[in-house]
Amino acid sequence: MSKKKKTLTKKSGTKREKIARRGLMFVLSSPSGAGKTTLTRLLVQKEENIELSISVTTRKRRPSEVDGVHYHFLTRPEFEKMRDAGELLEWAEVHGNYYGTPAKPVEKTIAKGKDILFDIDYQGTRQLYKKAASDVVSIFILPPSIAEMKKRIRRRAAEDEQTIKKRLETAKHELKRWGEYDYVVINDDLDAAFADIHAILSAERMKRVRRTGVVAFAKKLQSKL
Ligand code: 5GP
Repeated sequence: MSKKKKTLTKKSGTKREKIARRGLMFVLSSPSGAGKTTLTRLLVQKEENIELSISVTTRKRRPSEVDGVHYHFLTRPEFEKMRDAGELLEWAEVHGNYYGTPAKPVEKTIAKGKDILFDIDYQGTRQLYKKAASDVVSIFILPPSIAEMKKRIRRRAAEDEQTIKKRLETAKHELKRWGEYDYVVINDDLDAAFADIHAILSAERMKRVRRTGVVAFAKKLQSKL
C-alpha cells in the first residue's frame, strides 16, 4: 500500500505549496504509568515540526535522566525565583515537587511557526487553556488497566516504596481528569496509541483557523475567477 502511494506521488510530481500556519501547543497528560513519556519521546523523534518543552523541576534526578534533556533540575529557591519573576508559563506541585514550564523557549518555538509539545499535568494544562485556549490541543492518555498501570509504576526501579505509594495515590486523583481534555487515547498498544496521537496532530494542524496562509491563497483564487 505505502509502495503504491509513493509511486503515485512521484508520478504526479506535484509540488505542494507551503501554507503558513500558527504553531500549536500540544499537551499530553496522564496519570503515572500510562506510558506517556515513551509516547512523548516517540513524537519528538518522528516529527520534525514539533519541539519538546523542557520543564524545570525540584524533583531529584533519576539515574537515567540528563539535566537539560529530560528536565532542568533546580533547587527550591531557584525554582521559586523563576516563578516569582514571572518566567514560568505555568507551574504546579506534583508528588510534593515543583514542576514548571519556562515561558521563553515556548514563545521562541511558536514564533518560528513550530509546534510545542508539553508533558505536563492537569493543573498546568488548565493554566495553558487560560492563557492561550485557541492554541492548545490536549490529549489525556489512559492506561489499558489498573494492573498494567501499577506494573509500569513499579518498574521504575529508581524509586523507593514510599515514592511508589505516593505516585499511586496521585494517579488515583489524576485519572479523574480525563474529561477536561480534547481527546482521550488508550495506550493498550504503543504503535496504535502513537498512530492515534499522530492523527490528532495532523488534523489539528490542518484546522482552517491555524492555517493563516489559507486566507491569502483562497483570496488569490477568488480574484482570478
Ligand atoms: P515525573 O516526575 O514522573 O517526571 O513527572 C510527574 C508529573 O509531573 C507528570 O504527570 C508530568 O506530566 C508532570 N509535569 C512534568 N513537567 C511539568 C510541568 O512543567 N508542569 C506541570 N504542571 N506538570 C509537569
